[in-house]
Amino acid sequence: MKIAIVGGGIAGLSTANALKLAGFQIHVYEQAPAFTEVGAGILIGTGAMQILEQWNLKNIFLARSIPIKQTVITNTSLQKVVTTPTSLVGYSIHRAELINVLKSTLASDEYTLNARIEDIEVTEDKVCISLNNEKYYYDFLVAANGINSNIRNQFLQQVKPRQVQQVWWRGITKTKLPEALESKMFEMWGMNKRFGFMQKPDGEYFWWAILWEKEVADNQFDRTGLAEKFKQFHPVTQQLISSSTTFFDTTIRDVKTHNYAWHTKRIVFVGDAIHACTPDIAQGGSQAIESAYQLAKSLQQYKTDLNKAFEDYVIKRKKKAAFINDTSYRFGRMGHYKEQWKYNLLFTTLRLLPGSFLRNKIKKINAVDL
Ligand SMILES: Cc1cc2nc3c(=O)[nH]c(=O)nc-3n(C[C@H](O)[C@H](O)[C@H](O)COP(=O)(O)OP(=O)(O)OC[C@H]3O[C@@H](n4cnc5c(N)ncnc54)[C@H](O)[C@@H]3O)c2cc1C
Repeated sequence: MKIAIVGGGIAGLSTANALKLAGFQIHVYEQAPAFTEVGAGILIGTGAMQILEQWNLKNIFLARSIPIKQTVITNTSLQKVVTTPTSLVGYSIHRAELINVLKSTLASDEYTLNARIEDIEVTEDKVCISLNNEKYYYDFLVAANGINSNIRNQFLQQVKPRQVQQVWWRGITKTKLPEALESKMFEMWGMNKRFGFMQKPDGEYFWWAILWEKEVADNQFDRTGLAEKFKQFHPVTQQLISSSTTFFDTTIRDVKTHNYAWHTKRIVFVGDAIHACTPDIAQGGSQAIESAYQLAKSLQQYKTDLNKAFEDYVIKRKKKAAFINDTSYRFGRMGHYKEQWKYNLLFTTLRLLPGSFLRNKIKKINAVDL
């Protein structure tokens, strides 16, 4: 079978790896002039890591990432509220490096760059893509083209992104921090804001600052303006923001859990295009990897019966994606209050949570069916 994959982000390149290993012929179309990503970090979960291992990418991935042992939620003074009862929560990697890992298995004739796909025709037995006045025929198409997917807008119009009213600023800094802050992911909560950071493989740091959208009268403020917003937080926030080499903001949306199909006749959706979640539990990329893996597994099982394969894929993935989507959305809302007494109550509750509760949640988030 010949398969077109539209989108060369985490979902598209993961799908390429999974389908190639399952013996399918693939071609990836990416609109940008290169496979790349924004200048920020990403945490890849332990479940997704098991899949990378199945794709023989474990060693190259480990060489470019570092393990993060625990997530620590703190108050604005960086005093611990709760720590995950884990020895490993995932791996910290630069996004561009993750893309490099995923694209490393692709031959040059397996992808086309500068190729925005807009003209798609689906017939009884083929999908036809028109690009630069040429027509290309495939047995089916994987739409892995992100939350703004024009393919979803055309073929699955009912599914629409939702505004979640958070704005995330992200950056990478050259600063070094005390040893006690290494190998863990920290997030400070308070005053309707959050500020997080985790180490990069070279010992430098990724950081992120989260504001409630309604609090941001003008998103366009600069580094000094952002630092000002966090001046009552622990001084590490000022250190990380002021020494940052990259700096940009993203208004967050997700694709709320829905009951619509994840496929039409010969088009199937993977990643943010169909199950984008908020970044709050750092799972969107890992979920894209899980979907890519399951899609290949279902196709291998049902061979040429596309409908059965797509239905199997959706049955196997929908419940987990919904759990992640809902958990992430709720978790994100939990860290934002205007009143200090609400934080006090929340922190007391979090401190009282039994370790087994958190362990089970983390286990469920990272569970993959290999
Ligand atoms: C602030 C923030 C922090 C996050 N942190 C984490 C984290 O720590 N861990 C985690 O797992 N996830 C995280 N995520 C989520 C993660 O980034 C996404 O889930 C993931 O990048 C989605 O990948 P994707 O390939 O589905 O979509 P995208 O990354 O959007 O890729 C889509 C690709 O398709 C291309 N494209 C679009 N339309 C077309 C077209 N018509 N033709 C050709 N090409 C096209 C685009 O150029 C792009 O390259 C975070 C997200 C945000 C916003």
